[in-house]
Amino acid sequence: MAKMIVAGNWKMNASKEAVTALLSELKQGAVSVTNAQLVVFPPFPYLAQAQAELSGTSIAIGVQNICAASKGAYTGEVSLAMAKEFGVSYVLVGHSERRALYAEDDAQVAAKFIATQAMQLTPILCVGETLKQREQGLTISVVTGQIQAVIDAAGANSFDNAVVAYEPVWAIGTGLTASPAQAQEVHQAIRAHVADVAPEHAVGLKILYGGSVTATSAEELFTQADIDGGLVGGASLQADSFLAIGQAAK
Ligand code: PEP
Repeated sequence: MAKMIVAGNWKMNASKEAVTALLSELKQGAVSVTNAQLVVFPPFPYLAQAQAELSGTSIAIGVQNICAASKGAYTGEVSLAMAKEFGVSYVLVGHSERRALYAEDDAQVAAKFIATQAMQLTPILCVGETLKQREQGLTISVVTGQIQAVIDAAGANSFDNAVVAYEPVWAIGTGLTASPAQAQEVHQAIRAHVADVAPEHAVGLKILYGGSVTATSAEELFTQADIDGGLVGGASLQADSFLAIGQAAK
């Protein structure tokens, strides 16, 4: 069976000292994680440090955001070529905090997705509904709509080299987690939606669950048929909890 992915989104939390401490503990503990590819997503200033510390290990590096343009007058932005120089292999696109706080729309998300693949890096496309949308019975249509926006822009074959992360907005950083059955229902719908347009890519598509994942909740979430790992925020800042989530991948 293919390895799961357990990805740690550090968000805007780090210091040089904290990065050294966390990565050295992760390096030591990574041997205990046999069925998951661990990926860390540090803030940009710590990429060089992460690359140096993780060189020769099995832990991969990702970035939390990227600019779709390749270079030029984009003050404050970071390009894919720059990220790639620091050993980055994964790029989060469309995280709900980017959508909500920085007004990233489906078109911008799709442009970042396309640019990431064009640089031979793997986008992790984040999708998910708000609490209001769930209460209105719109969960599946919102999530498949976010997937379809990328298919429309990037084409049916675009999920060949891509990962999806289903992250209900109401579960991110709130301590609330979708139940395994709730998560599985949405993951299954995502896979079925991709299968409609590109059956050959749907079976192997990795769909991660995110939203207050802990080692305890990961145990059952990861047994669900269409859950292929986790995107972890808060619990990725401590080596022991992140490694325990990695160990929950069976
Ligand atoms: C996230 O940032 O993608 C996330 C899921 O955060 P948390 O695990 O803290 O809810």
